[in-house]
Order: sequence, then C-alpha cells, then structure tokens
Amino acid sequence: MPDLKLYDPFSNMQFTDTNCFLCGTIITKEDRTPVFGEWMQTKYNLHHKELLLLDKSVTTFSQLTIPCCTHCQENYVLPLEQDIETAAAGGLESIKALDPKRLFQWIGKMYYGTLVTELIKEKDPLIMPENPVSENPQMLGKFKTFFQVLQSLRVPMVFSDFLPCSLFILEVDPTEDELPFEYQDELTTMAFSIKLSPVVIVCKLLDNGIIRNVLNRLYKLTEGRQLHPIQVAEFKARVFYAAYIFNVVPDFFIRPGKPDDQQLILDTLIDDITNEVFNPFEPLAYAHMLEEMLKPWSIREKEILADPNQPLSFLTDEAGNFKNIEHYQR
Ligand SMILES: [Zn+2]
Repeated sequence: MPDLKLYDPFSNMQFTDTNCFLCGTIITKEDRTPVFGEWMQTKYNLHHKELLLLDKSVTTFSQLTIPCCTHCQENYVLPLEQDIETAAAGGLESIKALDPKRLFQWIGKMYYGTLVTELIKEKDPLIMPENPVSENPQMLGKFKTFFQVLQSLRVPMVFSDFLPCSLFILEVDPTEDELPFEYQDELTTMAFSIKLSPVVIVCKLLDNGIIRNVLNRLYKLTEGRQLHPIQVAEFKARVFYAAYIFNVVPDFFIRPGKPDDQQLILDTLIDDITNEVFNPFEPLAYAHMLEEMLKPWSIREKEILADPNQPLSFLTDEAGNFKNIEHYQR
C-alpha cells in the first residue's frame, strides 16, 4: 500500500537540518542530497562553481545540499536524477520525450532545494536577513501550495487535466554558443531556466500552464529551429517577465478517496474572477528584464525601447515572423 499522506512542513515551519525535505522523517545532519544532481555537477564541472544565494552569500554547487532521508534519496531523488541524466545524454529529442511531470519534479526539486536552504538559514538566530521569506505570509502560502504538487515525486499523484507549470524546451545553434551550462532561478516569481549543452529548459512553476498558452505562438515559431543565444536570452526574458506579472496562485484539491486507493488525484482551480491573472504589461519593466538577460551583449534599455511601442526583438520581425540570426554583430 503506498503512503498517500502528504507532508506539510509549513504549518509549523519544520525547516531544519534534521528533517527530510521531502517526507519530514527525522534524520541526522549527515543525511543529505545535492540540490543539483551529482551527474550534472560532474558532466558540467560544477563542483567548485560559485552560486549566489538569496541572502547574497556565496556557495558552490557541490556545497548546496539539503536534508534527505535514505529512503527518499534511494527511491525518489536518485531515480529522478537518473531519468534526467539518461534523457540529457540523448539530447533534445530525448528531453522532449520525457514525461513533462518528470521535468516539473526535477526543476521543482532544484527550486525547492534552494528555497529550503534559505528557510533553514533564516532559522539561525545569528543570521538576520533583511526581508526574511519566512515572515512573508503570501510567499509562504505560495510555497506551501507548490510543495503539495512537488510531492508527486514521493506520493503517487495524478494531475487531473493540468501540469502545475509552463515548460519550454529550446535548442541553441552551436555556431556562437559558448556556454555548456547555465542556470537561473528567481525565488519570488518561480521562474527558472537551465541549459544542458544545446538544450535550454525554461519554466514557470505553479501557473498551471497559463504562460505556456500565452506564449504559444512564439514558442511554436521556435520549434524545429536552432536559436542564436541572443534569441534564447530574449525568450527567457519573455517567460521571466510573464512570471513577474503573473498574479494568481492556483488551488489544488485532493479528490476524496477510498482507503485502498493507490494514488491521489488532484484537481485544480485558478480564481481569475476576483483577481486578474496578469498585472498590466509595462514596457519599461520588460525592457529592464530584457536588458538583464542581454547583459553578455551589452544592449541597453535605451536601445531596447528605441520604439516604445515595439521593444527590440531578436526573435520576431515587425510582422511577427521568425527572424533568422546565425551571427550577431553589433
Ligand atoms: Zn524522506
């Protein structure tokens, strides 16, 4: 009989080095799992690469670990990493062929791992963060909702007719691509992207696929094409900006079950009546986001907003058709 009971560390803020992040079991401080899979650290030589945490402290990929019991490690976390490793070795098509729920869990684990690290740190009386996440009820509510669906990693769970995120899978043209690996996440907006060789996965967690629908036309334009890195950067800016103005949090409901059920079935609802799904689009704020993503090419906001009605784009022309860029020259 599978254990269908969900774990809720948020009600009593049970974020410690001695509770498994996934099931809550009491463990020792030595029982830990890397936030970024060991295979990935080895493949992309990340062990000593530095990472900036939310409180501006610096850690390395290999130092970033979270408390995890042996059972969860062996039965849920390692098999997940194995699935992704195998798919990543197969390239774009294999990653696209993965169950999107698996990709959601994988991205979700890295995202949540970073969050858990932050929450454990905030419990340390010697660390007094300026804006502690743990004292922001709205954020905590969002994280709690997110953790419900992330537990599909441990508890057999069917999402009735939705995926609790938007996923985009892009391919980079090798001609001017210099980065084997890249990673970006934003704790508050739940936007995430990771680059594994030529494949870039961009994701907004907890939007039930709404941003995927909104950007569907643009995403379709990229299909079957190898994008210039500057185009990928713009695509990321579009997703990250959409995540930034995304204004609702879905509710998830567990269908009432019978004692011998083998899995949970989750339904969902987004309240778009009392809340607008998106805050209004602001060209200046979008330009800031794009400027940030275009940093490697030093393209400034002024240039982006030269035509205020049509921010600079490397993906589409004035008519909205795909632009081919093989070489980028200023
Ligand atoms: Zn566990």
